[in-house]
Parts: sequence; C-alpha cells; structure tokens
Amino acid sequence: MLNIVIFGPPGAGKGTQSELIIDKYKLVHLSTGDILRNEIANKTTLGIEAQKIIEKGELVSDDIVIGMVKNKIEANIEGNGFIFDGFPRTTEQAEALDRLLEENNTSISVMISLDVDEDELVKRLLKRAEEQGRKDDTIDVIRNRIKVYNEVTSHVCNYYSKKGKYCPVNGTGTIDEIFERITAVIDGAETKRPCCCG
Ligand code: UDP
Ligand code: MG
Repeated sequence: MLNIVIFGPPGAGKGTQSELIIDKYKLVHLSTGDILRNEIANKTTLGIEAQKIIEKGELVSDDIVIGMVKNKIEANIEGNGFIFDGFPRTTEQAEALDRLLEENNTSISVMISLDVDEDELVKRLLKRAEEQGRKDDTIDVIRNRIKVYNEVTSHVCNYYSKKGKYCPVNGTGTIDEIFERITAVIDGAETKRPCCCG
C-alpha cells in the first residue's frame, strides 16, 4: 500500500494536489475537513458541534477525528492506499494514525509537507472565500487557523522527521510544477530511494 500524509498550513494546496495524486496513484482521499463539512451539511449531531469549532478556526477534538479516520480506513483497506489530507493535526493524532495503520498491517510511506509563506496563504484563502464562500475563510478566522497551525500542527513535522518520513516540498509555483515536485518524492519513496526525506 502507498499511504501518504499531505501536510501544510491552511491554503498550502493540500486539497488541490490531493486530487492530482489520487488520480495518478489511485488512492483513497481521506480529508477530515471534507468529512466534517459533510457532517455540517447533513446537520448531524457531530456536524452541529464541529461547526462552532470550525467557524472559530479551532481544532475538533482528537477523539472525534481519529474515530472518523478509523471508519474510513476500515472501509477502504482493500484499496491501493490512502492520502491523508488535513490529518494528523496533532502529534497525538499522528500516533493514533500509526496505531490504526499497524492494526491493519500497513504504515505511512511518506509525509509531504507543502511550504508556502504566510502572505501567499492569506492571499489564496481570501481568493477561495470569493469562489467558495467558506465561512472559515474570513480574515480573522484565517489568522487564527494559521496561528493554530504554527502553535500546534506544525510540530507534527517533527514526529515524521524522527521516523525519516518528512519530505518538505516547495508549495509555490504553478499547480503542475508543484505536482511534479511531489511525484518525484513519491516515486522515490515507492522505490525505497527517498530523495529528500529526513
Ligand atoms: N478540522 C479539524 N480537524 C481536522 C480537519 C479539519 O479540526 O482533522 C477543522 C479545523 O477547524 C480547520 C477546518 O476544519 O480549520 C478546515 O479544515 P481543512 O483541512 O478543510 O482546511 P484547510 O486547512 O485545508 O484549509
Ligand atoms: Mg483542504
């Protein structure tokens, strides 16, 4: 199985690049943000709770997201592998993900971290707000999401770095240029020739 974590701050391009990666490597997309937005759209109990947290730019609890990920992994364990987009967001979630994969006799192949500077992130998210109208793409919420990323989520890099799986990729440029950089890393990881992994 090929299991990829795509990582980076809000607006780094995780969702966009995930679509291209899925197409090429035939993976299952596991975006916890998309699952949560689906729960909100369906007005489930979980969705109603999560909405308040998301609209403040805070993180939904580890227990909730780990439960969602567990269900999705178990339902798709026969496939080629997964791309984890927007998860793990805490070191506890990263540990739980490793345990879940181990229980299913598989593991993370590589973590791709998209590097983009903060001004560019804000610019992209404000543009997305115009296009998609996401309620958490307002300037105050964006600033808080970036703050939460810097204070909590960015530490997840260390977790994968210690395991030799952290691969930073320059996330600025055209979508195709970035995708090319990503496939170079994945193809290196697939043939056990990590080209840039710590
Ligand atoms: N979120 C969360 N845990 C997750 C995924 C999403 O708490 O595992 C919440 C969080 O409030 C985040 C929002 O959902 O700001 C949107 O997440 P998504 O990954 O879709 O946003 P992105 O970072 O890709 O812009
Ligand atoms: Mg996203």
